Amino acid sequence: MQPELEQLLILQDRDQKIKKIRAEIKSVPLQQAQLEGRLVSSAANLEAAKLRAREVEVHRKKLELDAGTRTESINRLKTQQYETRKNDEFRAMGNEIERYEKEILVIEDQELELMDQVDKLKVAVAAEEKKASEARESVARQVSDLEEKAKVLEIRLEELSKDRAEIVGRIEEDIIDRFERLFASKGDAAVVPLNHEICTGCHMKITAQTVHRVKSGREIVSCEQCGRILYFAE
Ligand SMILES: [Zn+2]
Repeated sequence: MQPELEQLLILQDRDQKIKKIRAEIKSVPLQQAQLEGRLVSSAANLEAAKLRAREVEVHRKKLELDAGTRTESINRLKTQQYETRKNDEFRAMGNEIERYEKEILVIEDQELELMDQVDKLKVAVAAEEKKASEARESVARQVSDLEEKAKVLEIRLEELSKDRAEIVGRIEEDIIDRFERLFASKGDAAVVPLNHEICTGCHMKITAQTVHRVKSGREIVSCEQCGRILYFAE
């Protein structure tokens, strides 16, 4: 193989690695944002559970007050009953007391139900707290791993870039230009092997004449279909 083609293949290998590393580095902020998103959602779940628990507790306290006012009314009516001498008044007060007592029973049932809910919500809040704290730990660990990975990638990128500059120095400028344009436009490979009479870049058949030129190895030959530089792999 021509020495220049060999150098181009090495250059292509470095460029493919550089491209991959750049893509990885570029994805780091996105990954960080996704991790932070997990934190936000676990914190929101915890807040929602706490809010629900507070609402039920407020409702329960209101019921407690409602029952309290009715008890006070009953006590007041009972005192009034002792003071009255009129039978119909006494009976009317008795009816009222009975009505309040029934209401209190209904309120107490509701209170019991809410107390049950409060207990369940306490368990739910504790579970969300545990989840949130686990998420915080896990996200912190992953963020720090990610930062570490980004540093390693930057170092690797620097090494590869230095290596690349050295290789570029060994190849003619116009060939480098041609290679770089192809590499940028094709996105994968600019220099590809010939497989029998097929270009492995575009998978199209090339002419016998071109095959012959590639095999003779005296010049840099491009695929007639896709323009990629071809080499003959023995
Ligand atoms: Zn081709």
